[in-house]
Amino acid sequence: MFDWLIVGAGFAGSVLAERLATQRNEKVLLIDRRAHIGGNAYDEYDAAGLLVHRYGPHIFHTNSQQILDYLSQFTAWRAYEHRVRGVVDGKRVPIPINRTTVNTLYGLDLDEAGVAAFLAGKAEPVDPIRTSEDVVVSQVGRELYEAFFRGYTRKQWGLDPAQLDKSVTARVPVRSNDDDRYFTDTHQCMPAQGYTRLFERMLAHQNIKVMLKTDLREISDVIPFRRMIFTGPIDEYFGHRFGKLPYRSLSFEHVTRDQDWFQEVGTVNFPQSEAYTRITEFKHLTGQEHPKTSLVYEYPQATGEPYYPVPTAESQALYKRYEELARSTANVWFVGRLATYRYYNMDQVVGQALATFRRINEEVPMSARKQLDLKRRSAFRYAEALFDDLAPIALAPGARGNGRTETADRGEG
Ligand code: FAD
Ligand code: UDP
Repeated sequence: MFDWLIVGAGFAGSVLAERLATQRNEKVLLIDRRAHIGGNAYDEYDAAGLLVHRYGPHIFHTNSQQILDYLSQFTAWRAYEHRVRGVVDGKRVPIPINRTTVNTLYGLDLDEAGVAAFLAGKAEPVDPIRTSEDVVVSQVGRELYEAFFRGYTRKQWGLDPAQLDKSVTARVPVRSNDDDRYFTDTHQCMPAQGYTRLFERMLAHQNIKVMLKTDLREISDVIPFRRMIFTGPIDEYFGHRFGKLPYRSLSFEHVTRDQDWFQEVGTVNFPQSEAYTRITEFKHLTGQEHPKTSLVYEYPQATGEPYYPVPTAESQALYKRYEELARSTANVWFVGRLATYRYYNMDQVVGQALATFRRINEEVPMSARKQLDLKRRSAFRYAEALFDDLAPIALAPGARGNGRTETADRGEG
């Protein structure tokens, strides 16, 4: 009998499989309906031998030393700071909007203070700031909002920014200085040998059995297990009983070109033209040297694989009903971007999974035999350190294995 059935081999499921197997010596069956591990972070070598991300560009960035340290057990890193240009009015300018963007588009030569004053002059006061339109208009005014955000957002989400929660466009800051990095997190890097290799190392443990091309529906009545971690779409788990949660999908067009380089930075965005939102050239991200280059074009679509939860007031209200149901579902934990319906980056999902593991330690007592086994083996110093934290494990009254969802260690998103 497996101690755990974990549904989904992305970051949420794989981190928990690793923690439960190594820190609690428990037997885990990790399934995924796809033919590979890694979830949306999966990468692979294409026909030309270039490392590409099958589900679109994945750039690792975090402010959490703890999350970086955790993942560093399974990979070395390559320093990489992502840069993005946008094609606006026929010019290629930095995104996020910065000093260069303003000076280029308006034919000016302003210094930092000048750009700040220029943008303040364009900004329209909005109070309260609720929507993705409010966030941008209150910082840069309507003209730049239209040029950079309105069209892109309508293309990406099939919704106007006025319909989306402020958190969506708030992901992209506005600057008056020359910083043209997409992210400003303390740690920005890529797994040196790719994400899939990282996942392989994370899951290489005798207590973890991986079954691919396997849907939960195929095995839940066949294979015995004690508890479950579910990382797929939460509404699907409950048979859509309150209705379907909206998810935004993408189709990815992968193209290899017989040339050294295609574009000057990792990603070029198209906020005013084209059916695709952006083109990413992987060699910038991976550092791979190769005479050819591989690109991915992202075409947003309403149907298909669920990639993005859609942050609107209505979808949040519907999610809350599923979350309530999840809380009262014994012995099932809901973790990850789809199961907690949160627009989380990879590091936030890792943080959420580590937080869930701590919760499991508080709520689910470890068997005495497994504690003893673990102590005898004490293979890793890391495991020993955590084991001290585990014993003795008190069972919180009434808390036994209640289905619950967690928020990430760092709450932004
Ligand atoms: P997933 O990776 O989606 O894994 C869930 C897994 O569960 C899937 O493999 C699925 O097949 C499986 N599954 C679901 N239901 C079932 C079932 N019933 N039975 C069996 N298996 C099931 N984050 C960043 O930090 N940086 C980036 O640059 C970045 N770029 C992104 C670009 C795109 C286009 C997208 C879509 C996301 C991006 N992200 C990025 C976010 C990142 O992909 C997620 O935060 C992370 O992969 C979520 O991990 P997860 O384990 O929650 O979900
Ligand atoms: N966005 C935009 N124009 C851009 C870049 C982003 O309007 O040039 C908006 C858009 O709504 C997008 C959101 O900001 O969905 C978040 O952008 P991000 O690059 O973080 O999206 P992701 O990488 O998650 O697809």
